[in-house]
Amino acid sequence: MIVLNLLCDHGHRFEGWFASGEAFRDQSDRHLVHCPQCQTSEVSQLPSAPHVKRSATDVAPLEKAAPPAAAPGIAALHQALATMARQAENVGERFPEEARRIHYDEAPARTIRGVATADETRDLLEEGILVLPAPIPPDEEIH
Ligand SMILES: [Zn+2]
Repeated sequence: MIVLNLLCDHGHRFEGWFASGEAFRDQSDRHLVHCPQCQTSEVSQLPSAPHVKRSATDVAPLEKAAPPAAAPGIAALHQALATMARQAENVGERFPEEARRIHYDEAPARTIRGVATADETRDLLEEGILVLPAPIPPDEEIH
């Protein structure tokens, strides 16, 4: 048996005992689960993990909950960009010119950052120069 925390559409919280989460969904779909306070069958399961009731005779394994998806957070992405920005040489408004010089082997290859207008960025991309428009934090934030 498992105990599920349930919530009716009037905001009453109560516990329900079911053979499994599947059994709850089945009974709920058929409006067989009622709130003990207001008798509504509009009942949903609260997202908290079900309690597992164990006893000597009841050892049926429950389905393991899926682990949370390991999605890289925005914070991690921002951190990576900030690291790139810290390591890049700031060429400021000479960015389009420097990017071209590096691309055509007129300047040592290195990571640079700077400012470029939308038109300049498009021109660079059309020339096959990889530029990454990114929100670079202002200088005072990347010391
Ligand atoms: Zn209720």
